[in-house]
Amino acid sequence: MRKHHRTVAVLSKIFDAPSILSPLKGRAKFKAPLRGACTSNLISQDPISNQDVVVIGGGAAGLFCAIAAGKRGRRVLVLEHADRVGKKIAISGGGRCNFTNIYTGPANFLSANPHFCKSALARYTPGDFMGLVENHGIRYHEKKLGQLFCDQSSQQIIDMLLSECADAGVEIRCGSQVRRINRENGFTIETNQGSFHAGSLVIATGGLSIAPLGATDFGYGIARQFGLKIEPPRPALVPLTLSPTVQRQLSPLSGISLDASVGIEGTEFRENILITHRGLSGPAILQISLYWETGTPIVINLLPDEDILNMLQDRQLSEIELANLLAQHWPRRFAHAWCDLYLPSRPLKQFNDGQLSEIAEKIRRLQITPAGTEGFKKAEVTAGGVATSELSSQTMEAKRIPGLYFIGEVVDVTGQLGGYNFQWAWASGYAAGQAV
Ligand SMILES: Cc1cc2nc3c(=O)[nH]c(=O)nc-3n(C[C@H](O)[C@H](O)[C@H](O)COP(=O)(O)OP(=O)(O)OC[C@H]3O[C@@H](n4cnc5c(N)ncnc54)[C@H](O)[C@@H]3O)c2cc1C
Repeated sequence: MRKHHRTVAVLSKIFDAPSILSPLKGRAKFKAPLRGACTSNLISQDPISNQDVVVIGGGAAGLFCAIAAGKRGRRVLVLEHADRVGKKIAISGGGRCNFTNIYTGPANFLSANPHFCKSALARYTPGDFMGLVENHGIRYHEKKLGQLFCDQSSQQIIDMLLSECADAGVEIRCGSQVRRINRENGFTIETNQGSFHAGSLVIATGGLSIAPLGATDFGYGIARQFGLKIEPPRPALVPLTLSPTVQRQLSPLSGISLDASVGIEGTEFRENILITHRGLSGPAILQISLYWETGTPIVINLLPDEDILNMLQDRQLSEIELANLLAQHWPRRFAHAWCDLYLPSRPLKQFNDGQLSEIAEKIRRLQITPAGTEGFKKAEVTAGGVATSELSSQTMEAKRIPGLYFIGEVVDVTGQLGGYNFQWAWASGYAAGQAV
């Protein structure tokens, strides 16, 4: 009893939240502290601590897998190298976490095998996650296009996950540096906080995007260690950069945002684009960056709702200047700058049929070849990753290495912008959580 009191005292100090600590009961060692704090000081003194499941990475996928496994009665330990879990969740969706998309379907994901995500997405749906969120009394709203955001704060999602972890008896240890993993009768994981043994090892360390939030290439390293193929990781949902010449040309338009559709070979997104002093951004550009390959052009329709040629021909006999006509559809500054860039504005009646067709084509099919992307520093996600051909789509287990699982962003399944990446994290985490 005295020992228990001492433990509570230590925990109170660590978490500064004594009220949420509950007496040790059964396998649930303590109520998990809220706000992403962890139990890094609670080190077992045993040379090797035995677990059923070790999850490396306390992000969206790792925590969700741990919850699912813990609820099945598995003894689960989450090892997180950062000082807190869920750092990406915290900043996601502008601080309100776009936690799912009600229209999620396989077509919203890019992968070398477009069928791979189907099974997991079907077994844990946006409706399932909405139910969980509602059970926790978290209020949310649809912002647009099926994207669901918390009314208040992303922290509510982290708190919810931590509360679920506590109920499922999951132990979370932050500040855990994994030094080595050996496979023999399961897996032995050597860390700066001691060694752990588990029959199932889940890699949930995410992609390379935004290193200050804890991103590492750890997951790819483990895949390599066990001889698993990796689709080359690349930044995605990221602003695109332009060649110096195009950037100079577009610089008068910098700061302007407008509704457009942006396409590459059959894939098209209709949302805003934003011209910046570094290149192109805005939701439609971030979306297309997922499909963009170096050296290929993107095609922008600057008036996607209009039959532009028809509109120009209707006014062909009028005195109205081209820039003024376009300013009825675009921000005035953009209309004038566009004319300065592509052809001097003059009354419409001074353009012949051929010139009107040319104008229509330039508006409908502005073709730009980006120079590159703003890289992992600015990318919302990492496309590519552990090859789906190496994994079971039912369980996320490596086909050739029984007991080893990969979930979330580290896998070569990448969602479009709009809550799909979290839905993949929940769904793949849940799939593995049923199997470990
Ligand atoms: C700015 C931003 C905003 C976003 N907003 C949204 C959004 O609103 N909606 C949406 O659907 N998606 C959003 N995303 C994408 C989404 O955050 C990720 O796709 C999702 O978090 C992936 O979950 P994950 O668990 O696979 O990886 P992560 O959430 O990245 O978690 C990986 C965890 O592993 C830990 N880790 C890494 N290396 C190690 C190691 N060696 N040892 C131990 N632990 C390690 C990391 O610290 C981290 O906690 C956003 C991303 C960013 C960057």
